[in-house]
Amino acid sequence: MIKVLEKSIADKIAAGEVVERPLSIVKELVENAIDSGANSIVVEIKNGGKTYIRVTDNGCGIPSAEVEMAFLRHATSKIVTAADLNSIETLGFRGEALASIAAVTRTELVTKTSEEKAGVKVIIHGGEIIENIGIGCPDGTTIVISDLFYNTPARQKFLKSDSAESSRIIEFLSQIALAYPRIKFRLINKGDIVFSTTGTGDMLSAIMSVYQQKEYADLVPLDYTYNGNRINGFISRPSLSKTTRKSQVFFVNGRVVSSKVIEKGVTEGYSERLFEGRFPVTFLFIETNPSKLDVNIHPNKREVRFDDEQEIVSLVREGIKQGLGTKEAVVEMRNVFKAEEASENNIFSKEDTQVDIKQILSTKRAELTVKENPVSYVVPEEPTTIQNSKPTLSIESPKLIPFDFRDLTLTGSIFGTYITATDDTNFYLIDQHAVHERVFYEQLVTEYLSEEKARQPILTPILLEVPLATKETEYDWMDALIEMGFSLELFGPSAYVIREIPTFMTISEAEDFAKTYIEQVEDGEHLLNTVVINKLITKSCKRAVKAHDYLSMEEIHALIQSLMACKNPFSCPHGRPTFIKLSNYEIERMFKRV
Ligand code: ADP
Ligand code: MG
Repeated sequence: MIKVLEKSIADKIAAGEVVERPLSIVKELVENAIDSGANSIVVEIKNGGKTYIRVTDNGCGIPSAEVEMAFLRHATSKIVTAADLNSIETLGFRGEALASIAAVTRTELVTKTSEEKAGVKVIIHGGEIIENIGIGCPDGTTIVISDLFYNTPARQKFLKSDSAESSRIIEFLSQIALAYPRIKFRLINKGDIVFSTTGTGDMLSAIMSVYQQKEYADLVPLDYTYNGNRINGFISRPSLSKTTRKSQVFFVNGRVVSSKVIEKGVTEGYSERLFEGRFPVTFLFIETNPSKLDVNIHPNKREVRFDDEQEIVSLVREGIKQGLGTKEAVVEMRNVFKAEEASENNIFSKEDTQVDIKQILSTKRAELTVKENPVSYVVPEEPTTIQNSKPTLSIESPKLIPFDFRDLTLTGSIFGTYITATDDTNFYLIDQHAVHERVFYEQLVTEYLSEEKARQPILTPILLEVPLATKETEYDWMDALIEMGFSLELFGPSAYVIREIPTFMTISEAEDFAKTYIEQVEDGEHLLNTVVINKLITKSCKRAVKAHDYLSMEEIHALIQSLMACKNPFSCPHGRPTFIKLSNYEIERMFKRV
């Protein structure tokens, strides 16, 4: 016999989808509080939220006549038509959170709107209304949830320890507090304040209050808009990095998300700026047209699906590159020293990390073939109007000034190793060897990718001896050499002559390069293997500028000119910085002038 389920059973089943653990409840209630327009939200939990969750807001409240309705499934004040589904601006919209939560807990709601003189208190146990009475209370809503799953004990055993549950809640609240720097958030766990933000709208101060990490004071801002999508937030300079992605927080239209697509953009944005296996600290806020994404693929709404994933990868990558390309983002000496103290964060260690040239080449290829519209590095205007329900940056968000080599006065070099320079407010040390590696590397890649190879004929051809076994496999390796601008002719049974070389190499560099290359092939290495290219670059730089080479001022100028022309002038191909700065302020501090 077919029967319609009793309401209380149906509610319990449906509740299972929304209420998985205490975090799910906190999330729904906090999102409701945000949607209510509150500028102050307090969350209190006990026992990891299993026995007690309180969320208090000073938002619009619920009219007393509608309070009971709020607990009905699919009751929402946020959606009226099906068309609204495509352009959801508020956080909750399914209209099932309160119903679901109330079905599996003891719920007490106290609420009052500013229009009404008195508020109302509703008590619901397992979905049954126990009490509904008028009460005097401030404007806004307080909801207290106790005894999660008291009526479905089987589900209690899927809950983790108190501390495991509370840490999820703390993580979530930390992130949401950042998404809404204009809302004062306070989190209380077991009677202690975990954190409390000021609600002044200053993003960096919110990050500092929530994470309480001194080193985050050195994060640098980014703000980049392209094609109607905007990315802003704060990211670490290459001098600060971690061994995991845990310090990367992403928001899309105000919602905390996890996203492989955004992660990919971050990796690309930092490519060659960090050693492999290091992850930057990022707080990224993406704003995109809600119709261009699907947030509803999972009821917990942590995953997003972008209609155009590549568009988001590029947005993140270019935004980060722009942020890292500002004056402010240049690595400071004190950052490096700090990083060394905290070895966890020490990226400039001796470890030798390989360059993933394959990846670099393939992305560069993609860039070339796709021919994206020219990217405009727009210096952001004053932020647009601020709504409470939208994440926004501080109004005093500093102007992003791109680093420009033309502002530098080159003053000389020290130890035959470091070029010295200054601008109005900083002193710079430029590592001439790292610079040369960068320049050489980019020329090599550019040459490899260009349609027309800039070759130069040489008067005395270079003789390249090649063991027979290697010659046998010439189909494997010869093309790559030609791609780089060499031209070779067979010369006898086990040799080639090189009559043309890439224009950017000197004859001796070219000879070194080709010979090293063949040695690598002999060793069974494939070209474009990261290790090979790495060795090639290092070895071919042998006779070029390196440490302990005293350069003339003319040579210094020429080297910096070439660096300036690089796509990524800030680091060598292995992720070491090409230059670092010491600010005037730091110098004055060292002399105890300030
Ligand atoms: P949804 O948020 O998807 O609309 P909920 O079940 O979470 O569904 O909430 C139902 C309705 O109750 C909301 O649409 C809103 O009108 C009202 N509501 C819930 N929480 C609050 C709150 N903290 N302040 C004001 N109104 C609220
Ligand atoms: Mg809701």
